[in-house]
This record gives sequence, structure tokens and C-alpha cells, in this order.
Amino acid sequence: MLRQYFEMKSRVPDAILFYRMGDFYEMFFEDAKDAAPLLGIALTRRHRDSDIEAPMCGVPHQSVDHHIAKLVAAGRKVAICDQVEDARAARGLVRRDITRVVTPGTVLDPESLVPDVPSYLAALAPGEAEWGVAFLDLSTGRFHAGAVRSARVPDVLALFRPREILLPEKGEAPVSAAPLSRRDSAWWKAAGKAFPHAEAILRGPGRSAAAAALTYASEMRPGGVAHVASPSPLAFDERMGLDASAVATLELFESSDGVTSRSLFATLDRTRSPLGARALREALAHPSLDAVELEARWDAVDELVRCQEAAQTLQAALEEVGDLERRFARVAMGAAGPREVAALAGGLQAIPAVVEAGRALTAGLLRSLFESMPDTRDCVECVASALAPDPPVLASAGGVIREGADAELDSLRTLRRDAQSALLAIEARERQRSGISSVKVRFNRVFGYSLEVGNAHKDRIPADWIRKQSLANAERFVTPALKELEEKILNAEDSIAGIEARLYAELLATLAKAAGRVAKTAAAVAQLDLLASHAEVARAGRWVRPRLCTTPRLSISDGRHPLVERLRREEPFVPNDTDLSPDHRILVVTGPNMGGKSTYLRQVATIVLLAQAGSFVPAARAELSLVDRIFTRVGAADYLSRGESTFMVEMLESAAILREATPRSLVILDEVGRGTSTFDGLSIAWAMLEYLHDTSEKAGFVLFATHYHELTEIALVKPGVVNATMAVREIGGRVVFLRKVIPGTADRSYGIQVAELAGLPGEVTGRAREVLANLEKQELDVQGAPVIARRKGESAGSGQFLLFSAEEELALERLRGLDIDQMTPLAALSLLAALQSRLKGK
Ligand code: ATP
Repeated sequence: MLRQYFEMKSRVPDAILFYRMGDFYEMFFEDAKDAAPLLGIALTRRHRDSDIEAPMCGVPHQSVDHHIAKLVAAGRKVAICDQVEDARAARGLVRRDITRVVTPGTVLDPESLVPDVPSYLAALAPGEAEWGVAFLDLSTGRFHAGAVRSARVPDVLALFRPREILLPEKGEAPVSAAPLSRRDSAWWKAAGKAFPHAEAILRGPGRSAAAAALTYASEMRPGGVAHVASPSPLAFDERMGLDASAVATLELFESSDGVTSRSLFATLDRTRSPLGARALREALAHPSLDAVELEARWDAVDELVRCQEAAQTLQAALEEVGDLERRFARVAMGAAGPREVAALAGGLQAIPAVVEAGRALTAGLLRSLFESMPDTRDCVECVASALAPDPPVLASAGGVIREGADAELDSLRTLRRDAQSALLAIEARERQRSGISSVKVRFNRVFGYSLEVGNAHKDRIPADWIRKQSLANAERFVTPALKELEEKILNAEDSIAGIEARLYAELLATLAKAAGRVAKTAAAVAQLDLLASHAEVARAGRWVRPRLCTTPRLSISDGRHPLVERLRREEPFVPNDTDLSPDHRILVVTGPNMGGKSTYLRQVATIVLLAQAGSFVPAARAELSLVDRIFTRVGAADYLSRGESTFMVEMLESAAILREATPRSLVILDEVGRGTSTFDGLSIAWAMLEYLHDTSEKAGFVLFATHYHELTEIALVKPGVVNATMAVREIGGRVVFLRKVIPGTADRSYGIQVAELAGLPGEVTGRAREVLANLEKQELDVQGAPVIARRKGESAGSGQFLLFSAEEELALERLRGLDIDQMTPLAALSLLAALQSRLKGK
């Protein structure tokens, strides 16, 4: 058995092997050690006393899907090794084979999929300058592929969030939480040949990645992947670019602490179907750059905001549609059970009500969506005429096909029913004949039908009964009539199962032909749901329609941050204005800690993103020009797990921004330079701002939050730079944050007050005040040269903070300069006295 086990395991080295033994699936060795804690089951060692130490654990076969789902959710692959012959018929070891492999990127079981989240498998073909990338969602059939610059691979992964990444055997892997699957170069080569149709649409490395994704998927799904569309080319240039850092900073899909319900997506999601929810994710991940498209979307949202009743009727109708896309994908792959087919038909049946709900709506986009839904009544009818009214979950359960669907099936079913009464008739007759009133007809899978008689009546058995089986207290017999009937029944049952299976497969095949029409319907439903959701959010939050400017402009009155506004209820949200134009395109925001700088920066970026995602925006008025990319460099998150220092990551991200920003980009820089010493950080920040200001190819909008007050001096020499600060009021020694952005610069950081608010011990904050006072005094002592120049000059070797007063420094300086060998004891003593009195005098 172990030899067979190892043979199976060698075929799926990177998967956890579920090895069927009787009613259990067993895992052995490393697999068992890996899986037991993930599944929360006990690890045992069956062969403790033998040479073989075999850690093992097992799960009952009935609940295998649940356990597979758990492992897949944990990013593991699972291979199922089943018994492929009847255990009773087998001589020696039962033959076994791997019947399926489930991986995170190819899984289709509803239990392993989150309804509103796509489930992408990524295939990456690394190259020098460009990588081929392909993203395939088997659960919906969506497929994208293309080539991207190697530096942008992490960004693309952050947007698609694949559940599994397929890579060549060797070579670097991008940073990603998704589990990796590797294949050798021969496999990649063969994959390219197996799917030449990818070639027609794509060129270069994108083609190879697309072919690999398809090949891998069809290896995992032997049922075929016919529902997968041809890959649509990834056209990043036609969409707003978001780098991985922006996806995280703007909390698109999860909050900074990893909670999905506190994401921008969750704030916006009022969709009524998983289709709409996935469309919303897509809209947020790939905002538009097309003014015509955006105006059409805003027109539609506008009408749905105004016509509340029609919008609500539409949403109610959409709710009935369900997940057309995923249900259909399972139908097309032959993986759908009868109940799912019924649900698919139910969803299609709801479409006329959706169209009806839209009668009164006139916006162009809405009209074209309503009119783009093809007639799928034939699909509904074909399901209704074939499928039984309340069909079972599994096709193998029988009773799948309705009465009247097939004449032969009907007559076999009648035969089976009649046979049942014939059985009862035989039972009655033999009872009477033998005079044993307790005779019963029994059925057993191995022995078939028999007459069962208790041992007490042994002596009254008629002579023509044939003994078949002895039990503890009873005997079982057959008669020629019973035997004949049994044959009829079993044959009928076999035929019924055969016909049902054939008709069910035919039904799935017929439905599969409607792939194009169902896909169109699903796409229209998704967009309608998305637009209605935008309208509901806009109406509830009094959001406004953005106005698009053709010249660069970012002008917002009373803008709000939708997430902070929703989640921080204890304080009313203070709206803020923004006004950037080519003449004033760099905003340096200073202000106290906790003043609201970061929130303000993110708010502006979020409003831009929302607008280009086709939504209204949380403001009283917004005039915006299209932004081609949003860059963010925020905070000093920890990247220890990546083996890069915090400052290194900060600089890598800054370098990417300076390299890639264009005159149409929006750049959010929050405390850049914080990760190093004050002077280094300040100098880098200063130089970056100068560069962004002076380089015409980089002349986009920049919002820069900083604690380096020195940076506000840039506005004196660079006309495009404007200073703003967060208003605070000091009342009785305590700071009150007004959260209002006002022109000007902050006079101080109020860091110590914030530290006090946070509960730092009084001794520490008291001492901090002293140190601060000393530092500020020194600053005043040195007059003349601009701050930056002065600090540059003195920075060498002087450390980043001066912790002593000028007097103390002076004393130290004198001590350092002494030549003790040349001093008399008296001179030494009198110097000591002088130093002490000066220090005390202070
Ligand atoms: P630091 O410099 O310490 O990083 P910051 O100036 O960037 O601070 P934020 O982190 O943006 O400040 O905001 C501080 C707190 O104020 C947050 O809890 C935030 O929710 C709240 N806040 C920010 N802006 C507003 C606003 N406009 N209205 C109400 N509350 C706000």
C-alpha cells in the first residue's frame, strides 16, 4: 500500500494527497503534519512500533469537500486519490487513481468561492523588460492577458489579487501572498503549442502566459474549460493606473489593518447580486480614462438618483437574478448539479422583470444595457421541460428529469412502480401460502430481494423456497417469481439511471450553447446593478456628480473622506476644500500630529478615484480633469518580511513615482523622508519637491504632507507650490484639532501635546518640553542663512538632535579641547570651578 501511496504522491508533489481507505481519506507523513493543524484534527502515528513512523490523519469521506475547502482557503493544493475499483471485487490491493486536483486558483466549489470576489489564477512569464501576464477566473470564464513592464508586475498583482500564481520552475517570484505553482520549461513550451488560439490575439510574452494559464486550468479540470472566453488584452494604458501602494493606501479592498468590511469597496457596495459586486471591484481597480464613458455613466447614475422609485424597482428585480456567471460556468464545465441548473433558469426567468423595471428610464447607457440583453426564454423553457420540479442537489441522486420529458423514462418508471406493487403481491401470496404472517420482502445491495423469515418459523418453510442467506435470528429465501421480478426491477433502475444521466448531460450541453447570450445578459445585469448601487450611495450620502474639466484642474468644495466619515462617528466629519491648477499644483500640508493631514490627502485621491470609477463623489462640488495615475507614498509601514528596510522601500516607491509620474498624474506623498535622519530626510523631500516642480514632464498634481516645517519655505522660491495647514486652537494648554485645511503654515507640531493625550508619562513629556525648548533656542541663536543650507552645513557628524543647551555644548567643547598633560592641578581645578558655575548659573 505504501508503494502505491508513494507512486500517487510522486505525481502531485506540491499537493496534499487525500488517500481513500474505506470510508476515510487519509493523509500521511509531511502532508499529515501540514494538514492536521489547518483542519483542526488529530495527528496520529499508526506504525509507531514498526520501522515506519507514519504520522497520519484522516477525514470521513462524507465531509471531504468541507475539508478540501479549508485547505484551499489556506492556500494549499489538494489531490484526491480514490479507489477506482470495487473494493469487494478487488484481488489484493485495490486500484486507486488521482481523480481530481483542487488548487486555490482553479477551485469551483461554491464553498471555496466568495460570491463577490473574483477567483483568479495568474500565470506569469518573466522577461527582461516585460513580463507576460495572464489572469483567468475559471469560476466566471473571464480571461485577461498581456505584457507589462517588469516594474509594474506587483501593481498588476495588487489589482487582480490572484489566488494562485503559476510560474516557470526557476526564476524570481514577485511579492504576493498567493501560493505559487511552478512548471518546468518543457511544460511551458508544450503549453504554448497546445493553445495556439491565444496566439491570434496576443503577441510576445502575454501569449505564453495565456497558454500556460489555459493548460494548467484544463489539467485541473478534466471536464473542459470551454466556457472560457478568448483572452481579452490587458490595456493598462486605457485605464487609470493604480500602484500597489495606492490600492493599499486608499483601502480599496481592505482597510489598513486588513478588514474587508472597512474598505472603500464595502462603503460603496449597495449591489444586489454577486455580478454587480464583482463589477464594482473591477470599476475600482480599473477606473476609466474615457470622458465619454464617464459622462454616460454619470448620466445614468443621475437619472437613477432622481427616479428613486424606478431605481428601487430595478434593484428588487436584479436581486432575483443571482450569480448567472458562476452558475453558468459550472453548467458549461459539466460540474453543475440539478438544483444549480434550476437556480440558473430562475435567474434567467427574472430578466424580463429587470427589463420591465427599466421601461421608464431614458439615460442612454441604461437604454443600451436594457436592450443588450438577448432573449434567453428558450433556456428557461428547456430547463422547465426537462428538469423535475424540486430537483436534488446531486445528479446521481436520481429523480432529476421530470415526468413527461421522455416516454421511455416514463414507462420504465411506471414499470418500477408496478414492480413495487408486484413485490407486495408476492409478499402477500407467500404469507398466505406458508401461513407465516411475519414474512417480509427485504432488499440488500449484495443479495438483492429476498423473503425474510424469523428462525421460529423455520419448519414451516415451503419446499420451493430457495435459501439464500442466514442471519443470526432469521433466514432469507428467494422464489423463482421473486427472482424474475428482481431482474425486472434492477434492469429498470439501471435503465432509468442511464436515461436520466443522458438527458441531464444533454440538458447541460444545450444550455452550454447559450454561452454568448448568457454572458451578454450577465454583463448587462452587472452594469445595471453597479449603476443602481452608485445611485443609492449618492442619494444616501448626498454625493454630487463631478464636472469634467478639459484643462488640468482639481477643484473640490466641501470634500469628505467617505470611509472616515462612515467609520468615525464619534466626531462629525469636517469637510474641506481643494483647489489645484497648473499655476498652483503642489500643495505642502503641514500641521500638528493628529491634525488630519493624511486623511485630507487620501480624501482628495479617493474623490478622484471615485469619479473615474463612474461614481458620484462625496463633496458639495467637484471639478476635475482626468488623472492617468494615482501614486501614493505613505507612512513607514514595516517591510521586514520582504527583507527590505523601511527606508529602502520608501525610496524604492519614491523612485518609481519620480520615474513614472506624468503631467496628468496625481501624486500623494505623506511624510516622505521620515524613515531616515532628519537632515537626510528633509533634504531628500526638498529635492523631490523641487524636481516635481521644475520638471515639465512630471508636472502633475502633488499633495505633500510633512512635519518638516522647513519645507514650507519652498513656496517662497517656487511659484507652483502652495502651503496649507490644519487649523488647531490651543485652549488652556490643550490642543483642539479643528480638522480644517487653511492656507499658510503650521507654527509647530504639537507632538508633545499629542504624546500627552496618548498617555506618555508626565516625566517623559516634561523632559521632552525642556529638550524642545533647548532645541528651539539654538535655532533662534543661528541667524542668517536659509534653514536648509545651514542644516546641510552642520549636519556632518553632529547627529540628528542636539540634546544639550548651548551652554552645555560649550562646556563639552572646552573639555574636549583640553590638553591635560600640559595643565597644572591648580589650573585644572579652577577651570572645573568655572565650568560648574557657568552651568549652574544657567
Ligand atoms: P499624523 O501627522 O500624526 O500622522 P495626521 O495629521 O496625518 O496625523 P490623520 O491621521 O489624518 O492626521 O487624522 C487624525 C484623526 O483625525 C483620525 O482619527 C481621523 O479620523 C480624524 N480626522 C481627520 N480628518 C478629519 C475630518 N476632516 N473630520 C473629522 N475627523 C477627522
